[in-house]
Order: sequence, then C-alpha cells, then structure tokens
Amino acid sequence: MKRRKVAVSACLLGELCRYDGQSKSDAAVMSAFKNDEIIPFCPEAPVLGTPRERICVIEKGDQRIVIGEESGEDFTPAIMAQVDLLVLNHPDLDAIVLKSKSPSCGLGTTPIYDENQKVIGFGDGIAAQRLKEIYPNIVITDELNLKEIEC
Ligand code: SF4
Repeated sequence: MKRRKVAVSACLLGELCRYDGQSKSDAAVMSAFKNDEIIPFCPEAPVLGTPRERICVIEKGDQRIVIGEESGEDFTPAIMAQVDLLVLNHPDLDAIVLKSKSPSCGLGTTPIYDENQKVIGFGDGIAAQRLKEIYPNIVITDELNLKEIEC
C-alpha cells in the first residue's frame, strides 16, 4: 500500500504541547499510521508557548474566534497562520487526524461559548474548521473515529 502523508495533532503523538505541558499520547493513532509519513501539527504551542493559558471558542455574531480564558486576548489570526503554514508546507496531505474537544483541533466535540462564557453547543475547533474548508477531499477525523480512515 502507498505510504500516506498524514498530519496528526502533535499531542496525540506524545509531544508535550498541551496547554498544561502534557501530551495526550495515543497508542492506537501511532500504531495505525506507523507505516505512513506523519506530519506533527500543533497550531497553539508555537503561538502561545507551553504551558499556556487555556483558550476557548466564542461565538461572536456569525463568527467563531478563540480567546484566552484569562487574558481575553483574541488568538484567532495567529492560530490561523499556523494552519496556513501547514497547508503551505504540505498541500499534498492524504489525511488528517485531530485531537477531540480542543478549541483548535476538535471536530464537532469542542465546547462553543457565547460572549458571557456560557456553553451554547459543541462544534469544530477553529483550526479544524479551516482545515475542512481547505482540504474538502481528504478524510479529516479525530482519535475517537479512526475507523473513518482505512488503516
Ligand atoms: S489539541 Fe491541537 S492545539 Fe491542542 S495541544 Fe494538541 S495539537 Fe496542540
């Protein structure tokens, strides 16, 4: 079988890039793609460092942005720039595996807040949302739904 090029949320690969300085190492993900070319991807750590304040997705009018839970700072453009960098360097991805529930990487599992910090539902993280727009023809899934990719 052809060696695929798969971008994976770096914390699933054991990188200590989560907001709390930990990883979310996932043996099933690493095993599923052991014969593929893996591109680690973390859109938050290069912007905010590690450890860092938590961020959350806020629905503001018809837009979704990410802000720091303590600072209130809008990190949306900087995180989007990290997505653009991934796309620039790897326009030929075959699949993407993201970390569930993350404000950047979550796929339908990320809590969405209103401007008063109340949860109004669950949706995509902002990086995931952008990746789905840019790569409409490849499988984009999370570690909870690996069966969507033929491993
Ligand atoms: S979920 Fe995404 S943004 Fe958060 S640590 Fe993992 S790779 Fe980085």
